[in-house]
Amino acid sequence: MKKYDYLVVGAGLFGATFAYEAAKRGKNVKVIEKRNHIAGNIYTKEVDGIQVHQYGAHIFHTSNKEIWDYVNQFAEFNRYTNSPMANYKGHMYNLPFNMNTFSEMWGVRTPEEAIAKINEQRQEMAGKEPKNLEEQAISLIGRDIYEKLIKGYTEKQWGQKATELPAFIIRRLPVRLVYDNNYFNDTYQGIPIGGYTQIVEKMLDSDLIDVETGVDFFDRKDKYLKDYPKIVFTGMIDQFFDYQLGELQYRSLRFETEEKNIGNYQGNAVINYTDAETPYTRIIEHKHFEFGKGDKDKTIITREYPADWQRGDEPYYPINNQRNNDLYKQYAKLASEKAKNVIFGGRLGQYRYYNMDQVLHAALTAVNEEFK
Ligand code: FAD
Ligand code: UDP
Repeated sequence: MKKYDYLVVGAGLFGATFAYEAAKRGKNVKVIEKRNHIAGNIYTKEVDGIQVHQYGAHIFHTSNKEIWDYVNQFAEFNRYTNSPMANYKGHMYNLPFNMNTFSEMWGVRTPEEAIAKINEQRQEMAGKEPKNLEEQAISLIGRDIYEKLIKGYTEKQWGQKATELPAFIIRRLPVRLVYDNNYFNDTYQGIPIGGYTQIVEKMLDSDLIDVETGVDFFDRKDKYLKDYPKIVFTGMIDQFFDYQLGELQYRSLRFETEEKNIGNYQGNAVINYTDAETPYTRIIEHKHFEFGKGDKDKTIITREYPADWQRGDEPYYPINNQRNNDLYKQYAKLASEKAKNVIFGGRLGQYRYYNMDQVLHAALTAVNEEFK
Protein backbone atom coordinates (compact mmCIF):
# COMPACT_ATOMS: atom_id res chain seq x y z
CA MET A 1 0.00 0.00 0.00
CA LYS A 2 1.16 3.53 -0.85
CA LYS A 3 2.24 5.42 2.25
CA TYR A 4 -0.17 8.19 3.16
CA ASP A 5 0.24 10.87 5.77
CA TYR A 6 -3.51 11.43 6.15
CA LEU A 7 -6.79 9.65 5.65
CA VAL A 8 -9.60 12.14 5.14
CA VAL A 9 -13.06 10.69 5.73
CA GLY A 10 -15.67 12.66 3.75
CA ALA A 11 -15.11 14.65 0.54
CA GLY A 12 -17.25 17.61 1.64
CA LEU A 13 -15.98 21.15 2.02
CA PHE A 14 -14.15 20.51 5.30
CA GLY A 15 -12.39 17.34 4.14
CA ALA A 16 -11.49 18.79 0.73
CA THR A 17 -10.04 21.98 2.25
CA PHE A 18 -7.92 19.98 4.65
CA ALA A 19 -6.72 17.65 1.87
CA TYR A 20 -5.86 20.61 -0.40
CA GLU A 21 -3.86 22.39 2.31
CA ALA A 22 -2.06 19.21 3.36
CA ALA A 23 -1.07 18.42 -0.26
CA LYS A 24 0.14 22.00 -0.64
CA ARG A 25 2.54 21.17 2.19
CA GLY A 26 3.80 18.03 0.41
CA LYS A 27 1.69 15.51 2.34
CA ASN A 28 0.17 12.40 0.76
CA VAL A 29 -3.56 12.20 1.35
CA LYS A 30 -6.16 9.51 0.83
CA VAL A 31 -9.80 10.69 0.75
CA ILE A 32 -12.70 8.27 1.16
CA GLU A 33 -16.32 9.28 0.64
CA LYS A 34 -19.34 7.09 1.21
CA ARG A 35 -21.56 8.77 -1.39
CA ASN A 36 -20.88 8.12 -5.06
CA HIS A 37 -19.77 11.71 -5.66
CA ILE A 38 -17.53 14.32 -4.03
CA ALA A 39 -18.48 17.73 -2.54
CA GLY A 40 -20.81 16.59 0.26
CA ASN A 41 -23.90 18.74 0.68
CA ILE A 42 -22.66 21.48 -1.61
CA TYR A 43 -22.75 19.10 -4.59
CA THR A 44 -24.27 20.61 -7.73
CA LYS A 45 -24.91 18.88 -11.04
CA GLU A 46 -25.70 20.35 -14.44
CA VAL A 47 -29.05 19.31 -15.97
CA ASP A 48 -30.48 21.07 -19.07
CA GLY A 49 -27.81 23.76 -18.68
CA ILE A 50 -28.99 24.45 -15.11
CA GLN A 51 -26.83 23.90 -12.02
CA VAL A 52 -29.01 21.79 -9.72
CA HIS A 53 -28.29 22.15 -6.00
CA GLN A 54 -28.79 18.48 -5.14
CA TYR A 55 -28.95 18.96 -1.35
CA GLY A 56 -30.92 22.17 -1.07
CA ALA A 57 -30.31 25.83 -1.89
CA HIS A 58 -26.73 26.91 -1.21
CA ILE A 59 -25.86 30.60 -1.19
CA PHE A 60 -22.35 31.57 -0.18
CA HIS A 61 -22.20 34.58 2.13
CA THR A 62 -19.58 35.91 4.50
CA SER A 63 -18.22 39.08 6.03
CA ASN A 64 -14.75 37.61 6.33
CA LYS A 65 -12.61 39.00 3.50
CA GLU A 66 -9.96 36.28 3.88
CA ILE A 67 -12.54 33.53 3.48
CA TRP A 68 -14.10 35.32 0.52
CA ASP A 69 -10.70 35.64 -1.19
CA TYR A 70 -9.91 32.02 -0.35
CA VAL A 71 -13.04 30.58 -1.94
CA ASN A 72 -12.65 32.86 -4.96
CA GLN A 73 -9.43 30.99 -5.84
CA PHE A 74 -11.58 28.04 -6.84
CA ALA A 75 -14.48 29.69 -8.66
CA GLU A 76 -15.81 32.95 -9.96
CA PHE A 77 -18.95 34.05 -8.13
CA ASN A 78 -22.01 35.73 -9.59
CA ARG A 79 -23.88 38.59 -7.89
CA TYR A 80 -26.82 36.51 -6.62
CA THR A 81 -28.51 38.07 -3.59
CA ASN A 82 -30.82 35.83 -1.63
CA SER A 83 -34.32 37.30 -1.43
CA PRO A 84 -36.77 34.51 -0.69
CA MET A 85 -40.53 35.02 -0.77
CA ALA A 86 -43.07 33.52 1.61
CA ASN A 87 -46.30 31.99 0.34
CA TYR A 88 -48.90 31.90 3.11
CA LYS A 89 -52.11 30.34 1.83
CA GLY A 90 -51.59 31.90 -1.59
CA HIS A 91 -50.66 35.33 -0.31
CA MET A 92 -47.08 36.45 -1.12
CA TYR A 93 -44.81 38.27 1.35
CA ASN A 94 -41.19 39.39 1.13
CA LEU A 95 -38.55 38.02 3.47
CA PRO A 96 -36.71 38.74 5.67
CA PHE A 97 -39.16 40.83 7.65
CA ASN A 98 -38.73 44.31 6.19
CA MET A 99 -40.74 47.32 5.02
CA ASN A 100 -42.06 45.38 2.00
CA THR A 101 -43.41 42.70 4.37
CA PHE A 102 -44.95 45.22 6.78
CA SER A 103 -46.46 47.22 3.95
CA GLU A 104 -48.04 44.09 2.44
CA MET A 105 -49.23 42.83 5.85
CA TRP A 106 -50.62 46.05 7.32
CA GLY A 107 -50.65 48.70 4.59
CA VAL A 108 -48.09 50.83 6.45
CA ARG A 109 -45.80 53.06 4.35
CA THR A 110 -43.09 54.53 6.60
CA PRO A 111 -40.74 53.07 9.22
CA GLU A 112 -42.55 55.13 11.85
CA GLU A 113 -45.90 53.59 10.94
CA ALA A 114 -44.32 50.12 10.92
CA ILE A 115 -42.81 50.60 14.40
CA ALA A 116 -46.13 51.79 15.76
CA LYS A 117 -47.89 48.72 14.35
CA ILE A 118 -45.21 46.30 15.62
CA ASN A 119 -45.37 47.87 19.09
CA GLU A 120 -49.16 47.56 19.14
CA GLN A 121 -48.83 43.87 18.15
CA ARG A 122 -46.19 43.17 20.82
CA GLN A 123 -48.45 44.52 23.57
CA GLU A 124 -49.90 41.08 24.28
CA MET A 125 -46.53 39.99 25.71
CA ALA A 126 -45.85 43.26 27.57
CA GLY A 127 -44.15 42.66 30.91
CA LYS A 128 -44.02 38.88 30.39
CA GLU A 129 -40.84 36.84 30.06
CA PRO A 130 -41.04 34.69 26.88
CA LYS A 131 -40.93 31.02 27.87
CA ASN A 132 -40.92 29.38 24.47
CA LEU A 133 -40.44 30.14 20.78
CA GLU A 134 -44.04 31.26 20.26
CA GLU A 135 -43.89 33.80 23.08
CA GLN A 136 -40.45 34.93 21.97
CA ALA A 137 -41.65 35.57 18.41
CA ILE A 138 -44.75 37.44 19.55
CA SER A 139 -42.73 39.59 21.92
CA LEU A 140 -40.33 40.46 19.07
CA ILE A 141 -42.67 41.01 16.15
CA GLY A 142 -46.28 40.37 17.19
CA ARG A 143 -48.95 37.82 16.40
CA ASP A 144 -49.73 38.62 12.72
CA ILE A 145 -46.24 37.91 11.48
CA TYR A 146 -45.75 35.06 13.91
CA GLU A 147 -48.88 33.24 12.72
CA LYS A 148 -48.45 33.88 9.01
CA LEU A 149 -44.70 33.67 8.52
CA ILE A 150 -43.11 31.86 11.45
CA LYS A 151 -45.36 29.34 13.20
CA GLY A 152 -46.14 26.89 10.37
CA TYR A 153 -42.66 26.99 8.86
CA THR A 154 -40.87 26.52 12.18
CA GLU A 155 -43.14 23.69 13.35
CA LYS A 156 -42.61 21.84 10.06
CA GLN A 157 -38.87 22.49 10.06
CA TRP A 158 -38.27 21.19 13.59
CA GLY A 159 -41.17 18.75 13.94
CA GLN A 160 -42.29 20.29 17.24
CA LYS A 161 -44.91 22.76 18.44
CA ALA A 162 -43.62 26.32 18.71
CA THR A 163 -44.83 26.33 22.32
CA GLU A 164 -42.46 23.42 23.00
CA LEU A 165 -39.45 24.82 21.15
CA PRO A 166 -36.86 26.84 23.06
CA ALA A 167 -37.01 30.63 22.70
CA PHE A 168 -33.34 30.97 21.80
CA ILE A 169 -33.84 29.59 18.26
CA ILE A 170 -35.22 32.95 17.12
CA ARG A 171 -33.76 35.36 19.63
CA ARG A 172 -32.17 37.26 16.78
CA LEU A 173 -34.98 37.53 14.24
CA PRO A 174 -33.91 40.13 11.71
CA VAL A 175 -36.42 42.99 11.57
CA ARG A 176 -35.47 45.65 9.05
CA LEU A 177 -37.09 49.01 8.64
CA VAL A 178 -35.92 49.40 5.04
CA TYR A 179 -37.36 48.25 1.70
CA ASP A 180 -34.52 45.76 1.17
CA ASN A 181 -35.19 42.07 0.56
CA ASN A 182 -31.58 40.90 0.92
CA TYR A 183 -31.83 37.96 3.34
CA PHE A 184 -28.24 38.20 4.58
CA ASN A 185 -26.36 41.04 6.28
CA ASP A 186 -22.95 39.87 5.06
CA THR A 187 -20.57 41.98 3.00
CA TYR A 188 -19.97 39.30 0.34
CA GLN A 189 -22.54 37.04 -1.27
CA GLY A 190 -22.91 34.98 -4.44
CA ILE A 191 -23.08 31.62 -6.16
CA PRO A 192 -20.17 30.09 -8.07
CA ILE A 193 -20.67 30.37 -11.82
CA GLY A 194 -20.67 26.76 -13.03
CA GLY A 195 -21.72 25.36 -9.63
CA TYR A 196 -20.10 24.32 -6.35
CA THR A 197 -18.72 20.92 -7.33
CA GLN A 198 -15.82 22.51 -9.25
CA ILE A 199 -14.55 24.05 -5.99
CA VAL A 200 -14.08 20.65 -4.40
CA GLU A 201 -12.82 19.16 -7.69
CA LYS A 202 -10.07 21.78 -7.87
CA MET A 203 -9.18 21.30 -4.21
CA LEU A 204 -8.76 17.56 -4.72
CA ASP A 205 -6.93 17.83 -8.05
CA SER A 206 -3.39 16.95 -6.95
CA ASP A 207 -0.95 14.11 -7.58
CA LEU A 208 -0.63 13.82 -3.83
CA ILE A 209 -4.37 13.22 -3.27
CA ASP A 210 -6.17 9.95 -4.09
CA VAL A 211 -9.96 9.97 -3.85
CA GLU A 212 -12.24 6.96 -3.59
CA THR A 213 -16.02 7.37 -3.55
CA GLY A 214 -18.59 4.79 -2.48
CA VAL A 215 -16.46 3.81 0.53
CA ASP A 216 -17.81 3.89 4.08
CA PHE A 217 -15.23 4.35 6.86
CA PHE A 218 -17.26 2.13 9.19
CA ASP A 219 -16.93 -0.89 6.91
CA ARG A 220 -13.22 -1.09 7.83
CA LYS A 221 -12.79 1.25 10.78
CA ASP A 222 -10.21 -0.82 12.67
CA LYS A 223 -8.04 -1.28 9.60
CA TYR A 224 -8.09 2.45 8.79
CA LEU A 225 -7.16 3.31 12.38
CA LYS A 226 -4.24 0.89 12.19
CA ASP A 227 -3.01 1.82 8.70
CA TYR A 228 -3.07 5.63 8.81
CA PRO A 229 -0.95 7.78 11.13
CA LYS A 230 -3.54 10.54 11.14
CA ILE A 231 -7.24 10.71 10.25
CA VAL A 232 -9.47 13.69 9.49
CA PHE A 233 -13.02 12.57 10.21
CA THR A 234 -15.98 14.62 8.93
CA GLY A 235 -18.77 12.11 9.62
CA MET A 236 -20.89 11.86 12.78
CA ILE A 237 -18.80 12.01 15.95
CA ASP A 238 -21.28 9.91 17.95
CA GLN A 239 -21.19 7.18 15.31
CA PHE A 240 -17.37 7.22 15.40
CA PHE A 241 -17.60 6.25 19.08
CA ASP A 242 -20.34 3.67 18.50
CA TYR A 243 -22.89 5.94 20.22
CA GLN A 244 -21.34 4.84 23.53
CA LEU A 245 -22.39 8.00 25.41
CA GLY A 246 -25.80 8.14 23.73
CA GLU A 247 -27.19 9.41 20.43
CA LEU A 248 -26.90 13.00 19.27
CA GLN A 249 -30.04 14.20 17.53
CA TYR A 250 -30.26 15.36 13.92
CA ARG A 251 -32.95 16.63 11.60
CA SER A 252 -33.20 15.07 8.18
CA LEU A 253 -34.68 16.23 4.87
CA ARG A 254 -36.25 14.66 1.82
CA PHE A 255 -35.75 16.38 -1.53
CA GLU A 256 -38.24 15.87 -4.34
CA THR A 257 -36.88 17.15 -7.65
CA GLU A 258 -39.03 17.59 -10.73
CA GLU A 259 -38.34 18.76 -14.27
CA LYS A 260 -41.11 20.96 -15.70
CA ASN A 261 -41.73 21.75 -19.35
CA ILE A 262 -42.15 25.46 -18.76
CA GLY A 263 -39.56 28.20 -18.74
CA ASN A 264 -40.36 29.80 -15.40
CA TYR A 265 -42.29 28.05 -12.64
CA GLN A 266 -42.32 30.40 -9.68
CA GLY A 267 -40.37 33.53 -10.65
CA ASN A 268 -37.91 33.30 -7.75
CA ALA A 269 -35.13 30.94 -6.65
CA VAL A 270 -36.64 30.29 -3.20
CA ILE A 271 -40.26 30.37 -2.04
CA ASN A 272 -41.04 29.34 1.53
CA TYR A 273 -44.43 27.80 2.32
CA THR A 274 -45.17 29.15 5.76
CA ASP A 275 -48.57 27.52 6.43
CA ALA A 276 -48.87 24.32 8.47
CA GLU A 277 -50.82 22.32 5.86
CA THR A 278 -48.32 22.29 2.95
CA PRO A 279 -46.01 19.37 3.82
CA TYR A 280 -42.84 20.93 2.40
CA THR A 281 -41.09 24.03 3.75
CA ARG A 282 -39.84 25.45 0.47
CA ILE A 283 -39.57 25.08 -3.28
CA ILE A 284 -36.39 26.09 -5.02
CA GLU A 285 -36.22 26.78 -8.74
CA HIS A 286 -32.58 26.24 -9.62
CA LYS A 287 -32.28 28.35 -12.79
CA HIS A 288 -33.03 31.56 -10.87
CA PHE A 289 -29.78 31.18 -8.91
CA GLU A 290 -28.20 32.01 -12.28
CA PHE A 291 -30.66 34.64 -13.52
CA GLY A 292 -32.68 32.29 -15.69
CA LYS A 293 -29.76 30.58 -17.44
CA GLY A 294 -30.36 27.17 -19.05
CA ASP A 295 -33.03 25.71 -21.32
CA LYS A 296 -35.63 28.43 -21.93
CA ASP A 297 -38.52 25.93 -22.15
CA LYS A 298 -37.58 23.83 -19.16
CA THR A 299 -37.04 24.33 -15.48
CA ILE A 300 -36.09 22.19 -12.50
CA ILE A 301 -37.68 22.58 -9.10
CA THR A 302 -37.02 20.89 -5.76
CA ARG A 303 -39.46 20.59 -2.87
CA GLU A 304 -37.81 20.30 0.54
CA TYR A 305 -39.59 18.16 3.15
CA PRO A 306 -38.26 18.18 6.72
CA ALA A 307 -38.04 14.70 8.22
CA ASP A 308 -37.31 12.98 11.51
CA TRP A 309 -33.87 11.42 11.64
CA GLN A 310 -33.16 7.81 12.47
CA ARG A 311 -29.91 5.88 12.16
CA GLY A 312 -29.16 5.36 8.49
CA ASP A 313 -30.85 8.60 7.33
CA GLU A 314 -28.83 11.59 6.13
CA PRO A 315 -28.15 13.82 9.15
CA TYR A 316 -28.56 17.26 7.54
CA TYR A 317 -28.96 19.45 10.60
CA PRO A 318 -27.45 19.02 14.05
CA ILE A 319 -30.05 20.05 16.65
CA ASN A 320 -28.01 22.37 18.83
CA ASN A 321 -30.17 22.41 21.97
CA GLN A 322 -28.76 22.22 25.48
CA ARG A 323 -29.04 18.44 25.83
CA ASN A 324 -27.25 17.77 22.54
CA ASN A 325 -24.57 20.42 23.03
CA ASP A 326 -23.75 18.94 26.44
CA LEU A 327 -23.56 15.45 24.99
CA TYR A 328 -21.38 16.69 22.13
CA LYS A 329 -18.97 18.19 24.67
CA GLN A 330 -18.63 14.77 26.28
CA TYR A 331 -17.86 13.24 22.88
CA ALA A 332 -15.30 15.99 22.18
CA LYS A 333 -13.65 15.17 25.52
CA LEU A 334 -13.61 11.48 24.68
CA ALA A 335 -12.05 12.36 21.31
CA SER A 336 -9.27 14.38 22.91
CA GLU A 337 -8.50 11.51 25.32
CA LYS A 338 -9.09 8.39 23.24
CA ALA A 339 -8.60 9.42 19.62
CA LYS A 340 -5.56 11.66 19.65
CA ASN A 341 -4.65 10.92 16.03
CA VAL A 342 -8.11 11.88 14.74
CA ILE A 343 -9.16 15.43 13.82
CA PHE A 344 -12.95 15.78 13.95
CA GLY A 345 -14.21 18.48 11.61
CA GLY A 346 -17.19 19.97 9.83
CA ARG A 347 -20.93 20.03 10.45
CA LEU A 348 -21.07 16.45 11.72
CA GLY A 349 -17.61 16.03 13.21
CA GLN A 350 -17.97 19.22 15.27
CA TYR A 351 -21.77 18.92 15.60
CA ARG A 352 -22.39 22.52 14.65
CA TYR A 353 -24.88 24.23 12.38
CA TYR A 354 -22.07 25.61 10.21
CA ASN A 355 -22.53 27.63 7.02
CA MET A 356 -20.00 27.15 4.22
CA ASP A 357 -17.87 30.12 5.21
CA GLN A 358 -17.73 28.83 8.77
CA VAL A 359 -16.72 25.37 7.55
CA LEU A 360 -13.89 26.93 5.53
CA HIS A 361 -12.83 28.90 8.57
CA ALA A 362 -12.95 25.80 10.80
CA ALA A 363 -10.96 23.75 8.24
CA LEU A 364 -8.28 26.44 7.90
CA THR A 365 -8.08 26.68 11.70
CA ALA A 366 -7.53 22.92 11.89
CA VAL A 367 -4.86 23.23 9.17
CA ASN A 368 -3.04 25.98 11.07
CA GLU A 369 -3.19 23.94 14.22
CA GLU A 370 -1.88 20.81 12.47
CA PHE A 371 0.96 22.49 10.57
CA LYS A 372 2.05 25.16 13.03
P1 FAD B 1 -20.71 17.61 4.41
O1 FAD B 1 -20.92 18.43 3.20
O2 FAD B 1 -21.88 16.89 5.00
O3 FAD B 1 -19.57 16.54 4.07
C1 FAD B 1 -19.31 15.41 4.87
C2 FAD B 1 -19.07 14.25 3.93
O4 FAD B 1 -18.65 13.12 4.68
C3 FAD B 1 -20.33 13.83 3.19
O5 FAD B 1 -20.10 13.82 1.81
C4 FAD B 1 -20.62 12.44 3.74
O6 FAD B 1 -21.21 11.57 2.77
C5 FAD B 1 -19.24 11.98 4.14
N1 FAD B 1 -19.26 10.93 5.17
C6 FAD B 1 -19.95 10.97 6.33
N2 FAD B 1 -19.75 9.82 7.01
C7 FAD B 1 -18.90 9.08 6.27
C8 FAD B 1 -18.34 7.78 6.44
N3 FAD B 1 -18.63 7.02 7.49
N4 FAD B 1 -17.50 7.30 5.47
C9 FAD B 1 -17.21 8.05 4.36
N5 FAD B 1 -17.73 9.28 4.15
C10 FAD B 1 -18.57 9.79 5.09
N6 FAD B 1 -24.41 26.92 3.95
C11 FAD B 1 -24.27 28.19 3.46
O7 FAD B 1 -23.22 28.80 3.67
N7 FAD B 1 -25.26 28.76 2.72
C12 FAD B 1 -26.43 28.12 2.45
O8 FAD B 1 -27.30 28.68 1.77
C13 FAD B 1 -26.62 26.81 2.97
N8 FAD B 1 -27.76 26.14 2.74
C14 FAD B 1 -27.91 24.88 3.23
C15 FAD B 1 -29.10 24.20 2.96
C16 FAD B 1 -29.28 22.90 3.42
C17 FAD B 1 -30.56 22.19 3.12
C18 FAD B 1 -28.24 22.27 4.17
C19 FAD B 1 -28.43 20.86 4.68
C20 FAD B 1 -27.07 22.94 4.44
C21 FAD B 1 -26.88 24.25 3.98
N9 FAD B 1 -25.68 24.94 4.20
C22 FAD B 1 -25.55 26.22 3.72
C23 FAD B 1 -24.56 24.35 4.97
C24 FAD B 1 -23.50 23.64 4.11
O9 FAD B 1 -24.09 22.59 3.39
C25 FAD B 1 -22.41 23.11 5.04
O10 FAD B 1 -21.83 24.16 5.76
C26 FAD B 1 -21.28 22.34 4.35
O11 FAD B 1 -21.69 21.59 3.26
C27 FAD B 1 -20.67 21.42 5.38
O12 FAD B 1 -19.51 20.79 4.88
P2 FAD B 1 -18.90 19.54 5.66
O13 FAD B 1 -17.70 19.11 4.90
O14 FAD B 1 -18.78 19.85 7.08
O15 FAD B 1 -20.06 18.43 5.60
N1 UDP C 1 -38.04 30.83 9.66
C1 UDP C 1 -39.39 31.11 9.68
N2 UDP C 1 -40.02 31.43 8.51
C2 UDP C 1 -39.39 31.46 7.31
C3 UDP C 1 -38.00 31.18 7.29
C4 UDP C 1 -37.35 30.85 8.47
O1 UDP C 1 -40.01 31.08 10.73
O2 UDP C 1 -40.03 31.76 6.28
C5 UDP C 1 -37.36 30.47 10.93
C6 UDP C 1 -37.42 28.96 11.19
O3 UDP C 1 -37.56 28.75 12.58
C7 UDP C 1 -36.07 28.46 10.72
C8 UDP C 1 -35.16 29.64 11.08
O4 UDP C 1 -35.98 30.80 10.88
O5 UDP C 1 -35.69 27.27 11.37
C9 UDP C 1 -33.90 29.72 10.20
O6 UDP C 1 -34.27 29.66 8.83
P1 UDP C 1 -33.26 29.87 7.64
O7 UDP C 1 -34.02 29.70 6.37
O8 UDP C 1 -32.54 31.12 7.84
O9 UDP C 1 -32.19 28.69 7.85
P2 UDP C 1 -31.84 27.38 7.00
O10 UDP C 1 -32.88 26.38 7.35
O11 UDP C 1 -31.83 27.72 5.55
O12 UDP C 1 -30.48 27.00 7.52
